[in-house]
Amino acid sequence: MTLLQTLATYNELRRNQWLDRKALRRIQDAKLRRLIRHAYQSVPYYRQLFDEAGIPPDAIRTAEDLAQIPITTKSALLAAGPEATVSTAVRPDKLITETTSGSTGQPFTTRFDRRFVRIRDALFLRALTTAGYRFGDRLMLVTSTQGKTSRSGLHYVSLLEPPERLLDALNRCRPRVLYGCVTPLRQLASYIREMGAAAHRPKAVVSTAEALDDETRRLFMEAFGAEVYDIFGLTEMGLVAWECGQHDGYHLAEDTTVTEFIPTGPDGALRLVMTNLELRGMPLIRFQTGDIGVPGPSEQCACGRSLTRLQRIEGRIVDCIRLRDGLTLSPYRLTLALEKIPGIGRYQVIQESLDVFTILHEGRSGNGSETAEAARRVMHDIIGTDARISVRQERSLDPPPGRKFRVVESRLPPGATR
Ligand SMILES: [Zn+2]
Repeated sequence: MTLLQTLATYNELRRNQWLDRKALRRIQDAKLRRLIRHAYQSVPYYRQLFDEAGIPPDAIRTAEDLAQIPITTKSALLAAGPEATVSTAVRPDKLITETTSGSTGQPFTTRFDRRFVRIRDALFLRALTTAGYRFGDRLMLVTSTQGKTSRSGLHYVSLLEPPERLLDALNRCRPRVLYGCVTPLRQLASYIREMGAAAHRPKAVVSTAEALDDETRRLFMEAFGAEVYDIFGLTEMGLVAWECGQHDGYHLAEDTTVTEFIPTGPDGALRLVMTNLELRGMPLIRFQTGDIGVPGPSEQCACGRSLTRLQRIEGRIVDCIRLRDGLTLSPYRLTLALEKIPGIGRYQVIQESLDVFTILHEGRSGNGSETAEAARRVMHDIIGTDARISVRQERSLDPPPGRKFRVVESRLPPGATR
């Protein structure tokens, strides 16, 4: 994988965003047909899914035809296992494995081929340049730094760092664009505001990983003195939608992903179901993302892009943990540690009071009491041994209809300090 290949992919994506609807659909449908053929021929899970539903693979010719295919959940892929869900057409040594639970609380291992990683990088670049980033600019990324190294212009800072360290990094790096997960950026912005601290002002802030509410957006604009661009990505497939300078919804990356809004339940909430057109190692076709979304306005955006829009994403919320003495703890400290426990399955951390926590988990395999013991150990290591931790295995952690799932949920009353 070379930088030149990534740039060539970026140039292609950059052109795609200005195409008209007809040209976009042509690209989307051609990629879709190739994906379906590939999945049917080399991924046992999809071959069986298609055969059982009586769908010959060449019946899927356009995005509209996708509706014939049953929806696939994360749990179904986990149950089928890698033997059935990873393509036999990609050499195992060419696959990059990534495990994460993101904000869905369900540890999941994806396998990307190198070509996909290039596309993922190029998609990210397209969103960054929309926010005013230019090649050679300094970029500071507040994110999980596992396996990442800072190099010329790119400065990685761990999302687990406390706000004073983040501020230090911001003032030393002086980036043109500040990129990061909403929660650590919110902690940094609040710190700047409360302390009245002198902070470098980037041209733009690009936020990701959780729903960005209006209040947080205003806080970012005020504390960083910058324009705020939110992007929407999934750990399983990279960026799928991004904001343009109009800040009126997110443009869907229709040249690499097909997004469907599927009504569910009596409240009529729309679930986002996505088909990634570029994933070959472990294809995701009609994949239920676990997110609820609101479609954007149907008329063309004033920016000139004809890509359709997503107005809002709901259902990706994590709370911060508050400790005694007013200290706060990044929820990622907990999720990054908990998702490493073998057999934990989907999980949720509930803070009942300052030092009482409940961990619920669906339990995928193995010994429930071992999982509980490991979870208690992880929590005690991070929060302290005084905290009371109970761990319970549940059949399903799906929230009741209309409620949002919070992987880390705080039930503390606002302002509680003891
Ligand atoms: Zn636009």
